[in-house]
Amino acid sequence: MSIAERISAIQQRMAAACSRAGRSVADVQLMAVSKTHPAEAIRQAHSAGLRLFGENRVQEFEGKHVALRDMQDARFHLIGHLQSNKANKAAELFHAVDSVDSLKLAQRLNAAAQAEGKILDILLEINVGGEEAKAGLAPESSDLHALLAAAPQLGHLRIRGLMAIPPFSHHPEGARPFFRRMRELRDQISALDLPDILMDQLSMGMSHDFEVAIEEGSTRVRIGTAIFGERAKL
Ligand SMILES: *Cc1c(COP(=O)(O)O)cnc(C)c1O
Repeated sequence: MSIAERISAIQQRMAAACSRAGRSVADVQLMAVSKTHPAEAIRQAHSAGLRLFGENRVQEFEGKHVALRDMQDARFHLIGHLQSNKANKAAELFHAVDSVDSLKLAQRLNAAAQAEGKILDILLEINVGGEEAKAGLAPESSDLHALLAAAPQLGHLRIRGLMAIPPFSHHPEGARPFFRRMRELRDQISALDLPDILMDQLSMGMSHDFEVAIEEGSTRVRIGTAIFGERAKL
């Protein structure tokens, strides 16, 4: 199957999941996750109509973005772990950072966005499974609340919502309780009505579990393998 055919098949499955959940297809975005795949593959996904792309590494995207400069309507989000010392480069290259996991990183990104003269959309990454090896803020942590409370001081960032990667499970249903927990967390934060916080985005669901994520309220699924094929092992 071509990239365009794979995208079309995913869009049909997304629409079916939306319909099962009584949701509008317009409420769930498809992000193509292009890590390890060349600029040419991103261009094919763009030709097939996609405009939202996720990349995991600042350095990798630095090498690709020059070849994609003419795709003015595409939006590139950083979705992989970001070290504070790469915040400047990230703010320069990306439209949004979906993996913010500390106040320190948010402050660095805010300063970098200010220097770039832009407003960066960000998501807060939540370690919803409490996994040792994974990045992200703990759901009920004081770190999460400190970051939310700092929003008025982060004038060049726009906090748009939450992102999570649930613990790996061989069966997509295994992720459902974690997706549900994320939606509850999003609703709890929304209900606090904090200044300068938007909670309209919930980024969750990947190639093997995106339908369950949509049923549980995801507004943005991040699909790599099901669009671009298997990644070479790094
Ligand atoms: C790689 C990656 C994805 C896509 O995973 P697939 O299983 O290939 O769809 C989504 N989100 C993040 C954060 C990733 O690193």
